Amino acid sequence: MPLLADDIFADANAWGFETRAIRAGQPHDVSSGAVVTPISLATTFVQEEVGVNRGYLYARVSNPTRTALQDCLASLEGASHGLAFASGMAAEDTFLRTLAPGDHIVLGDDAYGGTFRLIAHVLVPMGITWSAVDLTDVDGLREAMPSSTKVVWVETPTNPSLTVIDIAAVAEAAHSVGARLVVDNTFATPYLQQPLSLGADVVVHSTTKYCGGHSDVVGGFLALNDTELAEELEFLQKAVGAVGSPFDNYLTLRGLKTLAVRMDRHCDSARAVAEFLTSRPEVVEVFFPGLVDHPGHEIAVRQMKDFGGMVSFRVAGGVGPAMRLAAATQVFVLAESLGAVESLIEHPGAMTHASAVGSPLEVSDDLIRLSVGLEAIDDLIADLTQAFDRL
Ligand SMILES: *Cc1c(COP(=O)(O)O)cnc(C)c1O
Repeated sequence: MPLLADDIFADANAWGFETRAIRAGQPHDVSSGAVVTPISLATTFVQEEVGVNRGYLYARVSNPTRTALQDCLASLEGASHGLAFASGMAAEDTFLRTLAPGDHIVLGDDAYGGTFRLIAHVLVPMGITWSAVDLTDVDGLREAMPSSTKVVWVETPTNPSLTVIDIAAVAEAAHSVGARLVVDNTFATPYLQQPLSLGADVVVHSTTKYCGGHSDVVGGFLALNDTELAEELEFLQKAVGAVGSPFDNYLTLRGLKTLAVRMDRHCDSARAVAEFLTSRPEVVEVFFPGLVDHPGHEIAVRQMKDFGGMVSFRVAGGVGPAMRLAAATQVFVLAESLGAVESLIEHPGAMTHASAVGSPLEVSDDLIRLSVGLEAIDDLIADLTQAFDRL
């Protein structure tokens, strides 16, 4: 048995998702046989003679721990290229640097607040234009895209309204004007949805969320199949340098190993929470793609393996009761972010989406978002029950 057993994982498609999450890109350490990818802290790498090296020169450009993460998560997305960054925003910024003044971005009208902030407040002063479009209406999208459109940016399910966007239909529309389709796959994860196989050009992740999965590491990722674009992005990754540390890369890689089993439980518990919420008189409307009357349910069934761990809902009586509810839970922790083992509750209008107030991406102030974690489902339901009872 050779110590270096990675060759059998070179053909990613030959192995199941869970197997690749644990093994792809993670050869046993040649010098020791260590089963776990080492955290490679070296900033520089020996050269046998000038120009002769083992593929590593300087750690901003590449380092072995990052390579393992990049190869593993690229494999999970069905991508031939993967690039890891210091945060989701760093990944987004690096990709958006491929644009030039005069280029236009079409953003879904229910996007992550930070994506809106980056585009509207950082890229616009640099000459990029943008518009927010309802991407559930693909005919409307076709009419709304100016000829300068270079990027259509999709989140699905969206944040925080959990609207489902038809990736294949939007990809076709984007390609008809020569634009690239970027899908932010943070909410779904590659376990539930693989956008490249549906026609997307680039997948972006905040690995801070489900991929890391334990609220202890910030990171971002780009996955794609276009080799020319990948070379441009590798150049930008090196030139801009928005890369995470080897320890960050290690933690994200560690999180990926359990992504599949965590997602299964997140999905089951979120479904139970969504059903509970529909039974409460204090709730006006529940947003969860797994509910059969959710407008995106059919598309979600087609393009996702399951419906994810996020649930949003509108509280009767408006902002006052919504704010009180967010402060009244005990197992659900009042905090931003999502996708980790602990359940979180937040008020998007005043928290994650505060930067979108007054923009087309503003969210209603009676909305509450839950990230359903991995605690006992009975404790989660009991916690919400006591919080509603105290309103
Ligand atoms: C958190 C998040 C981001 C930004 O990622 P960071 O890791 O916080 O920089 C982008 N998109 C979505 C959907 C997110 O939830």
